[in-house]
Amino acid sequence: MKCPYCGDDNDRVIDTRLVKDGEAIRRRRECLSCGRRFTTYEYIEKTPLLVIKKDGTREPFERDKILQGILTACHKRPIPREKIESLVDEVVSVVSDLGKTEVESRIIGEEIMKRLKELDEISYVRFASVYREFRDKKEFLKELKNLKG
Ligand SMILES: [Zn+2]
Repeated sequence: MKCPYCGDDNDRVIDTRLVKDGEAIRRRRECLSCGRRFTTYEYIEKTPLLVIKKDGTREPFERDKILQGILTACHKRPIPREKIESLVDEVVSVVSDLGKTEVESRIIGEEIMKRLKELDEISYVRFASVYREFRDKKEFLKELKNLKG
């Protein structure tokens, strides 16, 4: 590593430790040319995940957007906030584990619906009606009927 003081590329690591809950490694280095010390950090390179929307545009994948969508669907439903939070966490980890750099919004929507259906049917139908954009009212009612049966 090039020394920030003298510019020489000649140093030794004098201390290495995990920081930020293990998400980074901090190294104290000593320049062997001028004797001064400096710090470097090492992080895993993360490519930001993008969501492909229906119109083909992309936007960054954000946990908060998923949470907002679910909170809207669960409005005034007797569902503890922690259950919603853990549902969101599950969806985020499933989507991250796909290991892709771009994911269709449809896939995220399906993952949410799968879990929401188990959690609360009313919220599920509300969410599904927005995400699936039921082609007509008949289709929507059919879905409702399926739930009750
Ligand atoms: Zn130096």
